[in-house]
Amino acid sequence: MKAVVYNGPRDVSVGDVSDAKIERPTDVLVKITATNICGSDLHMYEGRTDFETGRNFGHENMGQVVEVGDGVDKVKVGEYVVLPFNISCGFCKNCERGHTNYCLTTQPDAALAGAAYGFAGMGPWAGGQAEMLRVPYGDHNCLRLGEDAKEKENDYVMLADIFPTGYHAPEMAGVVPGDTVVIYGAGPVGLMAALSATTKGAARVMVVDRHPDRLRLAEQIGAIPIDDSKTDPVQFVLDQTMGLGADRGCECVGYQAHDPQGTEDPALTLNRLIASVRFTGGIGVVGVFMPADPGGPNEDAKQGKVAIDYGLHWFKGQTIGSGQCPVKKYNRQLRDLIAGDKVKPSWIVSHEIPLTEAADAYRNFDERNDGWTKVVIKP
Ligand code: NAD
Ligand code: ZN
Repeated sequence: MKAVVYNGPRDVSVGDVSDAKIERPTDVLVKITATNICGSDLHMYEGRTDFETGRNFGHENMGQVVEVGDGVDKVKVGEYVVLPFNISCGFCKNCERGHTNYCLTTQPDAALAGAAYGFAGMGPWAGGQAEMLRVPYGDHNCLRLGEDAKEKENDYVMLADIFPTGYHAPEMAGVVPGDTVVIYGAGPVGLMAALSATTKGAARVMVVDRHPDRLRLAEQIGAIPIDDSKTDPVQFVLDQTMGLGADRGCECVGYQAHDPQGTEDPALTLNRLIASVRFTGGIGVVGVFMPADPGGPNEDAKQGKVAIDYGLHWFKGQTIGSGQCPVKKYNRQLRDLIAGDKVKPSWIVSHEIPLTEAADAYRNFDERNDGWTKVVIKP
C-alpha cells in the first residue's frame, strides 16, 4: 500500500510499505479517510530523532472500519472512527488510572512508557499517513463517530491529537470561568488551546506568535494576538492585567522555540510563562521537550537540559503540569461538542491534499510558509 515514507532529514516521499492487516484477534483495520500533518511530525522530519528511514509517519488519523478481528465486540465494519494518537491497552497499571498516554503494554521498551502510530521512540506501530491502518486493541482505541462523520470530517480528525492536546494545556493550568489566559504558540496546538480556554469559560485569552496568518486565526475566535517580533509579550500581558500577570498560561511551542530578537534560550517560552503568570497561577506545558535534542543550541540543550527560572516560579507559588496528552480523557466530550455545533476546530485547516502531494506539504508546513497552518491528507 502507499504511505508517506521518511527517507532522511527533510526528505519524505510517497512509497510502498507492507500492507496493514489484522494480526491479532483484537485488531481493527481502518481505511484512512483523513490524516493530518502535525508539528510533532516535524521533530522527526527535521532529523532530530532516530526515526528509521523507510518507516511511515501519521498519528492524527480517522477513517472507516473495513475489517475487525474475532475478538472485537463493539466496533463494526462500515463505522467511521477517529483514533487517539496514544495507542493503549486499557488494562495496564497506567491505563487503569486513565494515563493512556503512558501505556506499559503497547510500548515494548521497559524503560519507556506510551506508544503512538508512526512515531520515534513510541513503539513499532506503523503510521496512518497511508491508505490503511492497523489499530491494536480496537474496541479500546477507536472512538466511534455518528452519521455526521463525513460531513464534519475536518473537525473530527482533530480529535486524534491536537484538539484534546490543546484542551489538556488549559486543563493542566487549571482554567476556570472568568480567567485571563496567555498562550505561547499559535500553531495548531496553540490555536486549539485558545479555543479550549474559551470553551472552558476564560474571560480573556492572549496568544503569542509572530506569524500574522496564525495570529489572525487566533483573533477569529476572539483571542488577543501578540506579535512577539514587535511587542515584548511579558510586558504586554502585565500591562493588560494591571501588573499582576495572567491567571493561567499554556506552553504550545516546545524545545524548538526561538525568538525573533535572536535569544538562543531553549527554555524561552517557559521562562516567559513564569514571568507572565501571576502569583499562585497555573501553567500547562504541552509543547514537546525531549531528554535529548541533537539540534539544541548548546551542550546542555543537546542533552535536553533547559534552564528554567525555578526561583521565580517557586517564589510565585505557581503550579506546572506537563507531558503528552491522554487523548481518551477528553475525546468523547470534545466529539459531542463538535456534534452539537458548539465548536468547529476545522477553522484552522488551510490545506486538504491527496497523499501524492505530501512531500510538498511537509516542506511548506516545516518552513511555516504563509497560510500553511494545518494540512489534512485525504488518501
Ligand atoms: P507548530 O510548530 O506548527 O507551532 C509552533 C508555533 O510556535 C509556531 O507558529 C511558531 O511560530 C511559534 N513559536 C516559535 N517560537 C515561539 C516563541 N518563542 N513564542 C511564541 N511562539 C513561538 O507546531 P504545533 O503542531 O502547533 O505543535 C506545537 C508543539 O506541541 C510541538 O512541540 C508539538 O510537538 C507539541 N505537541 C504536543 C503534544 C502532546 O501530547 N503534549 C501533542 C501534539 C503536539
Ligand atoms: Zn500530532
